[in-house]
Amino acid sequence: MTRTCAVLLAVLSLGGCGWADPPADREIVYQVSTLGALLKGLYDGMATVKELRAHGDFGIGTFDALDGEMLADRGVFYQIRADGTCHVMPRDARSPFAAVTFFYADRTLPLRDLVAPTGLDAALQPALSGVNLPQAIRIDGEFAYVKARSVPRQTRPYPLLTDVVKTQPVFEYRDLRGTLVGFRLPPFLEGLNVPGYHFHFVDAARKVGGHLLECQLRTGTAEIDVTPSIQVALPTSPEFRGLDLAVHSEADVQRVEK
Ligand SMILES: [Zn+2]
Repeated sequence: MTRTCAVLLAVLSLGGCGWADPPADREIVYQVSTLGALLKGLYDGMATVKELRAHGDFGIGTFDALDGEMLADRGVFYQIRADGTCHVMPRDARSPFAAVTFFYADRTLPLRDLVAPTGLDAALQPALSGVNLPQAIRIDGEFAYVKARSVPRQTRPYPLLTDVVKTQPVFEYRDLRGTLVGFRLPPFLEGLNVPGYHFHFVDAARKVGGHLLECQLRTGTAEIDVTPSIQVALPTSPEFRGLDLAVHSEADVQRVEK
């Protein structure tokens, strides 16, 4: 061990919180833009992967021009393209909408024969901390079936998200290992992000994935990270400034996410 590491160890143990507790400023969901703005077609990339990585190693979102689904796991930012294939994104790739956090599991729960979305909430209940705190959730396991979608890159003038998803490519995967990366967010965050569960899937080989629509998990492990703070970076563009975000429709959120 180097001298630097030894000093760091001493400082951390003086804090008295042990290795399990991450520093408080890392217990934040860092979000870029709002779901309301995305629904209204604000697809221009804002934050870079490099910037998002400074605020988290785990999360979901999309890319500039709505070019596929974003999934970040263990510090690597992936893009699931409209053909379902998974690609590592460069640090200068931009996102118009994303939520990330530094993932530290507070609770771990074994899972068996889980069907989502119908059985998801009941299965995770023993490890959840109520409905009013944001919780990052990572589920690793063996899947019998996964139904996922992605979204194709859009061109200006951008259509509304509710229109884009009408023709979204949907993929079905069978008998594969993989990871679900996502959040359960409080109902009062409606307008800002998706209330309830929202997962993106990637297979163990990091070859295919998508925004989760349905799945059957044979066996796996859920890790839950309670993240009690939220930081939102809003776009400063004239387009965002002039947008009417007062009216949001729950039906629209359901249409694009479920
Ligand atoms: Zn999604």
